[in-house]
Amino acid sequence: MFALIVGTRPSFIMSAPIIQAFERADATLCIIHTAQHYSENMNAVFFRDLNIRAPDHTLKAAEIGLTPARQIAAIMIGVEDWLLRERPQALMVLGDTNSNLAGALAARKLNIPLAHIEAGERSGDLTAPEEQNRRMIDHIADIHFATNNRSCRNLIQENIASERIKVVGATVVDSVHQNLQKATALDLSAKEYAPDLKTPYAVMTLHRQENVEDRDRLDGILAEATEGAHRLNRPVLFFAHPRTLKRLCEFGLTDRIQADSLIRLLPGAGYLEFLRVLKGATFAITDSGGVQQEACILGVPAVTVMESTPWPDTIEIGANQLCKPGQSSLSDGMVQANQKSYADTPWRQPFGDGSAGDRIMRAMLLRYATEAA
Ligand code: UDP
Repeated sequence: MFALIVGTRPSFIMSAPIIQAFERADATLCIIHTAQHYSENMNAVFFRDLNIRAPDHTLKAAEIGLTPARQIAAIMIGVEDWLLRERPQALMVLGDTNSNLAGALAARKLNIPLAHIEAGERSGDLTAPEEQNRRMIDHIADIHFATNNRSCRNLIQENIASERIKVVGATVVDSVHQNLQKATALDLSAKEYAPDLKTPYAVMTLHRQENVEDRDRLDGILAEATEGAHRLNRPVLFFAHPRTLKRLCEFGLTDRIQADSLIRLLPGAGYLEFLRVLKGATFAITDSGGVQQEACILGVPAVTVMESTPWPDTIEIGANQLCKPGQSSLSDGMVQANQKSYADTPWRQPFGDGSAGDRIMRAMLLRYATEAA
């Protein structure tokens, strides 16, 4: 039996193609939900949208607001208990969250073979929690599934043996390809933002700790986004993460945003709804790793509100541009992104062909399936 850690919204989306590939091969895969981000509602929407079964094992949710070490420790203990009981042939972790680091550490300590999917991504900014996690996981994993040659080179530069690296593409492409038709067919006419879909509009997501935990920084980003919306006369559909909604409220910023005629403050959407809205957008403003990739795949220019990106390819090919808060103008970035057209000047796709889930499944079975649990 194999095991896979999930725990946050993007991990469901990126894991779905792997879960489905194991099901098609009739190979047993146990889904362990760490409950890092837990909401019955959100989970149910994602399982339904992605057509995946509910997790096989869900850890007791760690308290909200724990420090990183306490959160990682709580998840690590939960995963270790499960690993000791079930002894899977291998554990897979996908990405760079605290859940993945905790799962990876628990498996490594028990010497249960560990696979890292999305290995070798580097933003170069070791102050970002995601960069810390991905570096640590890469250095304790047994097998590395890399998205492309750049990620493979990053691993080799850090002395990871090339025979342990497999370039498979990114599962986000599989997810987009598998779900786009269903997403496009969605009827969104009852949504409050439905009239905006008939005009050119932009999409915005913000959730990263650096951007939403500091009142001045969040306030500054929103003021610039509002200025950009008015310069372009474009509605901005702002799908706010639960964490962001909470902070907006605590910081007393909600009323101002809601009063603006062009910013639509919306709760986070289900995956299909979000994909459909993103696909139709003129450009996206985001600090999400997954949304940067999806925008690139869908031909939607992105403006990334971060110091760095784990996906530098998106910048090089012209699909994405960085707007460092406090250093470069987001409003100018929006005007520039608004001028790009994928239809006129398509960019190269850097994340693979949409078969990553199958490749990962086959490599795992080939390498570990015959070994006794
Ligand atoms: N997403 C979603 N609903 C939303 C906003 C985003 O389903 O309202 C999806 C999006 O398609 C992407 C993922 O959530 O696949 C990104 O998650 P998030 O921004 O939480 O994290 P990150 O990618 O930065 O880890």
